[in-house]
Amino acid sequence: MGAELLVIGIDAATWAIIDRHLDKLKTFKMLKTHKEYKSKVLTLDQKPYSAPCWVSIFSGKTEEEHRHHEFVVDNEIQTRDDIKVDFIWDILKRTGKKVKALNVPFIVPPYNFNINFEAPGLGIPSNREEWDAEIAEVTNRAIETLRNENLDLFVVCYVSLDKLQHFHWGEKIVEEYYEKIDETIDKLISFGKKLIIISDHGFCAFGEAKIQTLPRITKDGTELKGDHHENAVLITKNIKTEINNLRDVFKAIKEVFK
Ligand SMILES: [Zn+2]
Repeated sequence: MGAELLVIGIDAATWAIIDRHLDKLKTFKMLKTHKEYKSKVLTLDQKPYSAPCWVSIFSGKTEEEHRHHEFVVDNEIQTRDDIKVDFIWDILKRTGKKVKALNVPFIVPPYNFNINFEAPGLGIPSNREEWDAEIAEVTNRAIETLRNENLDLFVVCYVSLDKLQHFHWGEKIVEEYYEKIDETIDKLISFGKKLIIISDHGFCAFGEAKIQTLPRITKDGTELKGDHHENAVLITKNIKTEINNLRDVFKAIKEVFK
């Protein structure tokens, strides 16, 4: 049981935090040092916006090509059907592969393929209770699926770090959630013969970001402390394809099932 290839997406995960807290992040420490795994900084060559970046990761297309720029366009929440691309799961399904994707955050609420799931906080978790619920419920669903099924590809994503880092960058709570993600990865990795762990972009202090993704002050008057950074996280196991940008993840997955 499990998956030939397990892809774990962690929205906004950054080496800037991981490397500084490696002593407390036992799984990341293992992934960085064990010779079975390769890890690197993946520097984006596209704007570090979550919606277009996740589409690039799973469609292999640039933002100009797939044209999914925002979660909301002209006050309309975008849906899967608004994005005119084939994702890797669409392509693999046509060739008879068994594929499931859970909580992929290129739309709100996040997208599920071949699995029913309702994301806590509608996929935009905004407080401790919802961040904890996301991590727990997504993980439970992923483990339940991987324990009972033999899949070719299983994709599972988490958005809590992105949301909480905007509000709490520089605070202790950020490290606390990296520890939760670290434990989560530990629970999941043994289910995949091959593995890709990817973030859609990194994170940094608000003033350090080259591209500002949100206004400094939110509608309800809260000041944001962090913003997206172009350096993302990449960790792989048994993946031959060289991954040098987000689109290469799509190529790498395709290559596994060639
Ligand atoms: Zn993101």
